[in-house]
Amino acid sequence: MSKEYADKFATDIPKTYTPRDAEDRIYSAWLNSGFFAPENLPGERKEKFVTCIAPPNITGELHMGHALELTLQDIIVRMKRMQGHRTLWLPGTDHAGIAAQNVVEKQLAKEGTNRHELGREKFLERMWQWRDQYGGAILEQLKKLGLSVDWTRTKFTMDPGYQEAVKTAFLHYYQKGWIYKGTRVINWCIRCATAVSDLEVNYVTEKGKLYFIKYGQFTIATARPETKLGDTALAVHPEDQRYKEYVGKELEIESVNNSVSAEQPAEPKKVKILVVADETVDKEFGTGIIKVTPAHDLTDFEISQRHNLASIKIIDERGRMNENAGIRYQGMKTAEAREQIIKDLEAIDLVEKIEEYEHNVGRCDRCNSVIEPLPSEQWFLKMRELAKLALEAVESSRVKIHPPRWEGPYKHWLNNVRDWNISRQLWWGHKIPIEGENDVLDTWFSSALWPLATLGWPLLRQGSGGQASKNDFEEYYPTDFITSDRSILFLWQVRMIFSGMEFTGQSPFKDVYVHATVLTKDGKRMSKSLGTGVNPLELIEKYGTDALRFGLASQATGLQDLRFGEDLLVMGRKFANKFWNIARYVLIKLPEDYTWKIKKSPQDLQSEIVSKLDGLAVNITKNITQYEFAEAANSLYKFVWHEFADKYIEESKDKNDQETYDTLAYLTVTCLKLLHPFMPFVTEEIWSKIPIPGKNLLLVENWPS
Ligand SMILES: [Zn+2]
Repeated sequence: MSKEYADKFATDIPKTYTPRDAEDRIYSAWLNSGFFAPENLPGERKEKFVTCIAPPNITGELHMGHALELTLQDIIVRMKRMQGHRTLWLPGTDHAGIAAQNVVEKQLAKEGTNRHELGREKFLERMWQWRDQYGGAILEQLKKLGLSVDWTRTKFTMDPGYQEAVKTAFLHYYQKGWIYKGTRVINWCIRCATAVSDLEVNYVTEKGKLYFIKYGQFTIATARPETKLGDTALAVHPEDQRYKEYVGKELEIESVNNSVSAEQPAEPKKVKILVVADETVDKEFGTGIIKVTPAHDLTDFEISQRHNLASIKIIDERGRMNENAGIRYQGMKTAEAREQIIKDLEAIDLVEKIEEYEHNVGRCDRCNSVIEPLPSEQWFLKMRELAKLALEAVESSRVKIHPPRWEGPYKHWLNNVRDWNISRQLWWGHKIPIEGENDVLDTWFSSALWPLATLGWPLLRQGSGGQASKNDFEEYYPTDFITSDRSILFLWQVRMIFSGMEFTGQSPFKDVYVHATVLTKDGKRMSKSLGTGVNPLELIEKYGTDALRFGLASQATGLQDLRFGEDLLVMGRKFANKFWNIARYVLIKLPEDYTWKIKKSPQDLQSEIVSKLDGLAVNITKNITQYEFAEAANSLYKFVWHEFADKYIEESKDKNDQETYDTLAYLTVTCLKLLHPFMPFVTEEIWSKIPIPGKNLLLVENWPS
């Protein structure tokens, strides 16, 4: 390199790399190249490589879980693209039924109105307005992570084509007789006024009381004495010797007379109650005998099904005691009724003792209100055959779960799955396609079709798909892998697998990668509301995207949760600068007429450091393919820092021969390529400064192994 060029380079590029100056410019260059879309990629590409983003909710805000998940996904996608695959990474958003409806309902409340006053049609207009205005914000935030997704194919779970897919799937199940309407105990959110899925209930340990209440000669421990009014049996474990003689017998016991108004003193009354034996009763809990309230407890409901017990609903959809609770309690909120009934039972000497107690209370994932299990008429999808399909897909290795330790919980869940309550009492979502039906489908019903519907299923067969989607299903389905946090393995991946198997006979992807959960440095859950959340956008502003990506990848072992501290980003930023300075040194050191090469010929360069790097490239490729991101990132870090910089560059300072030049050039180019998936911006920026004739963007250069 001439003195002049070297000086120019030295002034062109300051000694430290400034991400803020480069990132947006580079991202625009990638977008303008069109290379995120598979059909625009250079060269002949026989093999495809396809993955879909886990669609964030339109109400979503970028958090560290996204940053980790999408960085790892992008690392794989970028490597595959450089390896010469026809690479498609499809983005989009989820309409997020209950979450999105809550946002707009809150707006309406501020305006002093509500959805019922507005009416369904007007309300849905408001929903779409909100979605058009704010629903894309999360995607703009994702761009800051440098993701190489094909934005020209962005999908939304309520696009017209997607709606068609949902309808097709529903009617398919319906015609098979797998969808039925039934009354079952479901989780009901009193505030959201809808059924919520079992997996959308957060169980939180809370302080409460355990009441020991006399039932004839027995004492029963319960945290919810107000549900006593809906008891239809007592249950014991079949092998519990203490109660064996009572099983199958009806006992006459003393209870409280609920037909006397609450203004009057409490008085006793006799009631009859059956004792049943059921395997699910825990002999060790309390006194080993439980009361069974089929209408207000999911487990009790199942006991009642097995023993043909009656079910008495005593709590209504607003969380108040109804007429079946008797005039003494009718109209009270459950908490009030609990206080009243304890007072009453104490008055007639039916309370043995009250203890402080910590128990799990189910709270709504969306609004944190207490969940009330209630019997309700809902639509259900039979899970028997679908669960078999999902089990078979994993057992036959049509789909592999990584890390494999998730296979156990996957099978366990499917072997114990209940029929899926697919109806929600909301307005925002896919309306159940049956005349006269007002409910919408659970948002996971549509998410379950994501890899199919985003690629154009089933419209293509009818020839009415959009330009992009028309051939996508044939060309790109099934996809190669999907990734997500473990918290949605059962909500999402499982359902995509059985949907794919049912509708296409194929698993929608070959691999499921369950990534780690990002925790705080001291192992706490990250949450905005708890004040333990970290905003990735602020970190990007401070350290640059590459530092964030590298810091996260360096900790992604797949074995344990990731404890996040800003030191990871300090390390990532130092590493980006280190490589920047290595490249700067090499560019200044090499003579002006030096010919840079993209590849080396095999007979060149047989030194130890070159073969070390070649071996490393093979291992890194293997690591990334097997989702061992930390291994790949850390071995690359060690090589660049300790072998390349500390040893080779130091030794090269006094040497000016061809082999030294060739080696420096080769190490620089190869490390740039290997680092690119992890640190796409700084590597692309350096690449743009290297005078290689005929080079393309680093994004599409050849992978080194
Ligand atoms: Zn709620």
